[in-house]
Amino acid sequence: MATTKETQPTKLTAAQLKKKVEIQEEKIKSLKEGAWCYMCDTHKAKDKFYVSTDPMSKSGLTPICKDCAKKIALRTTNGVDQEPTRESVQLALRYLGKPFLEKVWDSSIQEVENLASGKVKSNVWTAYARQIAMPNYIG
Ligand SMILES: [Zn+2]
Repeated sequence: MATTKETQPTKLTAAQLKKKVEIQEEKIKSLKEGAWCYMCDTHKAKDKFYVSTDPMSKSGLTPICKDCAKKIALRTTNGVDQEPTRESVQLALRYLGKPFLEKVWDSSIQEVENLASGKVKSNVWTAYARQIAMPNYIG
């Protein structure tokens, strides 16, 4: 036989309420310390983003995260990266709000060619992203 139980609307005690507020505050803190990437719809730590050079950006971060930018640049399909092309790099940069500079592109290609003989695994996208993040290209 089934027992009928009165379901009372749950009232929080003062202690529970305090705990709830603490959790909320913790959440807000973590939100402030990170940023939201609209592309993968994920909240991530600030270091997962590039520094934005856009003076309008209040967060000081790029609108999409490093992972998403990389996926665009490397045309990642089914988890497999492909060689970045000029077009795919341009597209990723557009999402990041960063400029495509012929000079940086050329030196990125050069850098990758120089590294090709070495053990460092690099591609033109990572080279470009690193170079564009340098202070002399900000602004
Ligand atoms: Zn993302």
